[in-house]
Amino acid sequence: MAEKEYIEKSKLISDIECIDICDCTDIDDIFIEVERTIDEQPTADVQKVRHGKNVTPFHPADEFICSECGVAFKEMSEYIIEDDVYREFYFKFCPNCGAKMDKT
Ligand SMILES: [Zn+2]
Repeated sequence: MAEKEYIEKSKLISDIECIDICDCTDIDDIFIEVERTIDEQPTADVQKVRHGKNVTPFHPADEFICSECGVAFKEMSEYIIEDDVYREFYFKFCPNCGAKMDKT
């Protein structure tokens, strides 16, 4: 199976609308021009979003265990954000596998 490629939909539509069909003698010529326009579209580097959650049995601000890859960070209860100001910290994404921490 061929690797998926992702293109910008609005740019493709705009480029297809700009095809000059006056130079086309029949429907096959139009199809060839549309296919050429699609082939010339720049592709984006897109990665499928993985979803996970922090599965620690403790408070999620004290420990992080990724449900997807199992990486664990312990004793992370307080981090200095500003001078003498401590705040709880939660991972929005796993720093190891990149899973988004939004699974319930
Ligand atoms: Zn992970």
